[in-house]
Amino acid sequence: MSVSSSRSPRQAEIRRRTRAVVRVLEKFLGMPDAPARRPPPLAMLIATILSQNTSDKNSHRAYTNLTRCFPSWSALAAAPRRRIRAAIRCGGMAEQKSLRIREGLHCIRERFGGYDLSALEGMTDREVIAELTRIKGVGVKTAACVLLFSLGRDVFPVDTHVHRVCSRLGLVPGSRSPEETFERMEQLVPRGKAYSFHTNLIRFGRMVCRAQTPVCGSCPLYKECIFPGRKRNHKRLRRPSKTDHRFMLLDNVGTF
Ligand code: SF4
Repeated sequence: MSVSSSRSPRQAEIRRRTRAVVRVLEKFLGMPDAPARRPPPLAMLIATILSQNTSDKNSHRAYTNLTRCFPSWSALAAAPRRRIRAAIRCGGMAEQKSLRIREGLHCIRERFGGYDLSALEGMTDREVIAELTRIKGVGVKTAACVLLFSLGRDVFPVDTHVHRVCSRLGLVPGSRSPEETFERMEQLVPRGKAYSFHTNLIRFGRMVCRAQTPVCGSCPLYKECIFPGRKRNHKRLRRPSKTDHRFMLLDNVGTF
């Protein structure tokens, strides 16, 4: 992004609106607590692969099964694919995910000399993203999750839900993909707010700004939103519960 565009009145207005959205969500959903213990980067990487295209509940089950069935990352890497597939079947897309996990582990052993990604601690955010996305099947979103949840960096991961809500709110006009939204949001998310904004947007996208049936009539961001399909419907929102505030998998990533 050029300096002039980052300082344009339009960009300044989007920045102001982003700060307003962060504040409204923190008021509506609360300030999320960062996990007491950060999972090791490799555990987070595998958990994020398992979380693709499935519910938290199913990916949590798949992750738990995987760590129950194999005593170590090296045992997992050496296992036949059919055993990995069987262990993660409950998480969906077992064929594809078992391949990604195995290939990913082999690539990590080659690049890092073992099944340990602690060398990432000494790298910049951009270096971590470049390093992790060299692994087949690992995209920018997965790399950003490792940065935020494992390495405690102020990085804002963008999945399809975060992309959808940011687009509807007009924070990334015309963005065509989560990757493009990630690049643009990097310039917009207020410093120190990546964790709060990311986790609150996920909760908000599940409860209110749902893909098919957004509850616009009860939305605290109605005035900020430019989504042409928003309607003042009369659905009432239930109060957020503790369960809405949990990420089953990402809050519970352990290791062997
Ligand atoms: S008004 Fe509707 S579309 Fe806009 S952010 Fe709220 S729920 Fe989403």
